[in-house]
Amino acid sequence: MLKIACPGCGVRNYTEFRYAGDANKVRPAHQVRDLGEWYDYVFLFDNPKGPHREYWQHVLGCRQWLVVERDTATNTVQGTRFARDGGGE
Ligand SMILES: [Zn+2]
Repeated sequence: MLKIACPGCGVRNYTEFRYAGDANKVRPAHQVRDLGEWYDYVFLFDNPKGPHREYWQHVLGCRQWLVVERDTATNTVQGTRFARDGGGE
């Protein structure tokens, strides 16, 4: 079973967390009027095999947002940190 080490709470079962998306995606600037660019950002997702950076929220713990580095091929976690400390794009 997938275990995630929350920097604030320690190692917990993944069921305490909520997956919140790809941490590699870059949100378009607020002024961007190109709907295609927004469509890509909101609706299109990569499905990588291997190391991947993801946002997770510890909803049944400290409620903090995390950046989790997870290998999607082995479903193992290589690292975690608070999203507020950076790590997303
Ligand atoms: Zn936590």
